[in-house]
Amino acid sequence: MPILNPEGKSFATEVEVLVIGAGACGCTAALAANERSAEVLILERDAKPRGNTSLSGGQIPAAGTKLQRAAGLLDDTPEILAQDLIDKAHGQCDVELARHIASQSARTVDWLVERYQMPLSCILDFVYPGHSRPHMHASPSRFGAELLAVFLAAVEREGIPIATSAPVTDLFADDSGRIHGVRITRPDQRVEDIGCRALILACNGYGGNKALLERYIPEIAHAHYHGHVGNQGEAVLWGEALGASIKDMGAFQGHGAVTTPHNIHISWPSITEGGIQVNQHGRRFSNENQGYSEQALRVLRQPGGVAWTIWDERCQAIAITLHSHVEAMKAGAIKRYASVEDMAKSIGCDAKALAGTLRDVADAVRGTRADAFDRDFASKPPLVPPYYVARVTGALFHTQGGLEVDKCARVLRTDGTAFPNLFAGGGAARGLSGPADWGYLSGSGLMMATNLGRLAGEAAAAMVRS
Ligand SMILES: Cc1cc2nc3c(=O)[nH]c(=O)nc-3n(C[C@H](O)[C@H](O)[C@H](O)COP(=O)(O)OP(=O)(O)OC[C@H]3O[C@@H](n4cnc5c(N)ncnc54)[C@H](O)[C@@H]3O)c2cc1C
Repeated sequence: MPILNPEGKSFATEVEVLVIGAGACGCTAALAANERSAEVLILERDAKPRGNTSLSGGQIPAAGTKLQRAAGLLDDTPEILAQDLIDKAHGQCDVELARHIASQSARTVDWLVERYQMPLSCILDFVYPGHSRPHMHASPSRFGAELLAVFLAAVEREGIPIATSAPVTDLFADDSGRIHGVRITRPDQRVEDIGCRALILACNGYGGNKALLERYIPEIAHAHYHGHVGNQGEAVLWGEALGASIKDMGAFQGHGAVTTPHNIHISWPSITEGGIQVNQHGRRFSNENQGYSEQALRVLRQPGGVAWTIWDERCQAIAITLHSHVEAMKAGAIKRYASVEDMAKSIGCDAKALAGTLRDVADAVRGTRADAFDRDFASKPPLVPPYYVARVTGALFHTQGGLEVDKCARVLRTDGTAFPNLFAGGGAARGLSGPADWGYLSGSGLMMATNLGRLAGEAAAAMVRS
């Protein structure tokens, strides 16, 4: 991924702040910079923006928001959210950044709701693993496409231009690491160069780039990739070439319940509310409620790389509030059985083994037997027929490693100093998950997109205005 020499180069088109990528991060950054009177242009690879933001569940964690207060949630604080992030990552993330992002989270959500009419409300009917308070805020359908549409409408209303079908292929940077502009290579191979005074990388991670996955996360490289194929890892490749600090490249958000062969994910309340997963022998193999991310590899390690998620009517009533679950129902990926025998037949396992598994879980719920996988079942009622079942596999949702940034979203060099005018956020930046799959706190993706996006936009505008 070349870095081009800007010496003697003059750009026919120049803007103050260039943003690469029109997802949650790029839109947030552009809105924040525009509010501070910077001239902004967004460059987007696709003809119509449809990155991971549009595929997501659209749920953003934040602590101490006005929406939480209005909903009577008075005991959530940035300190609690920060601790949840740090605990999930076993303390192996950038702890200072985690505290900073948590401290900014309410401001970001309040701002998006009040100024740009984000249709968010608090998720109160279930809580994701690792969330010690209901931190999640989501739009009505709990679907990111709805969120991205509102972002793009706000960008349009503000008069911020988006150049689409505009993949950025190269950066112009001098020896000091100052970015002078970018090169777009249009789908018909026409080349356009655009100058800038600040550059914000909001082009997500490398989930769509098999070579990078094989290099950094071989264990998930050949699993189903459930994210946007346009996430080709340019931010990392440019960062490597520029001498940026790149960290936690083995980290990723997986998901342990993507229906196969349909490739639609089952929403996680099916598990948090008391559901379980069994393998083709009808036996459980893990504490399913530690998180959907780490569950991906656990499922992939089962015979055939598949498992069956089992839940009941009570779990279903909550799970169905998420868009993807509705889609899985419509696709016929979810079956319903009145008896253990019929369910076992559909799984292809021994009915007695499956009945034994359900009996053990019921005992754990009642507290008469400790769970073999240390899962705490006590807070939920037992599963009762009819049962819902889906055949699932483990998948990669997005990568979590990336460019190390400071509290203003400035990209850092390996010596810890900041590049003069280069910013990154969302999936382009290093996440807060630590080094592997188990550190991802649900919602961390959009949290890093919206908070780092706002911080990058504010800092870039301040820089070009100074
Ligand atoms: C199925 C699924 C469900 C998820 N659910 C949630 C959730 O509920 N909550 C949560 O917090 N996170 C969730 N995530 C993660 C979340 O979607 C991402 O972390 C977040 O959307 C990242 O935002 P972004 O703006 O960085 O990237 P994106 O939304 O992917 O936007 C990046 C944009 O950059 C463009 N681009 C890439 N390269 C270039 C280039 N070279 N030139 C020009 N443009 C380029 C892409 O086309 C894309 O439009 C989910 C992910 C998946 C896949």
